[in-house]
Amino acid sequence: MLNHLEFKQHLKAAVAFHGHLCLGQIIGVRLAMFGLDLVGISDPLGADRKKLIVFVEIGRCAADAIMTVTGSRVGRRSMKIIDYGKLAATFVNLETGVAFRIFSHPDAQKKAFALYPTLPEQEAEMRAYQEMEEHDMFDYLAVRVPIKCEDMPGRPTRKVQCALCGEYVLDARDIDRYGHPFCRPCATGNAYYTIEHPDCAHLPQAVGQ
Ligand SMILES: [Zn+2]
Ligand SMILES: [Zn+2]
Repeated sequence: MLNHLEFKQHLKAAVAFHGHLCLGQIIGVRLAMFGLDLVGISDPLGADRKKLIVFVEIGRCAADAIMTVTGSRVGRRSMKIIDYGKLAATFVNLETGVAFRIFSHPDAQKKAFALYPTLPEQEAEMRAYQEMEEHDMFDYLAVRVPIKCEDMPGRPTRKVQCALCGEYVLDARDIDRYGHPFCRPCATGNAYYTIEHPDCAHLPQAVGQ
């Protein structure tokens, strides 16, 4: 059952953090409250602060709401963005190992429209998602999430210097080539960026694919 008072408080905080009220804030707050409930975390900003890691599968509005409600942060390593472009998140209770993946129910939108058939679609959803039962909005699965020690919160377990570009690489994100650590772009020749003026900059090159 939805605690409406708690929902309103979370929504207010989410909107303040995110910058506007949107469907993502409403759905994100609902999803986060549901997820915390499922994994048995009742005080995420206080006593349970270090017991939770959340994997968020979307890099959009709802991620900010989930951040607000759970207190999880990318920089504290308690939030991981795995951008599948899906309105879903997995909550892992580090103390018990219990984990649930919660995802938007494929019929949620249909149910929202049916609840407010006379309203424009966006408005119907804005209202409906503040009232609907969790089970009409979301579905969930019990899952297992192996978390490597380099992905846990806390101090870095590994810091190495790339043998090619000389930049430091933390958290075991380096790749071994011929017994030397390389950063990912240097090891694969594959970066998300390309260099504008390669003549005047160091250009990472593929090393023994
Ligand atoms: Zn938004
Ligand atoms: Zn490098």
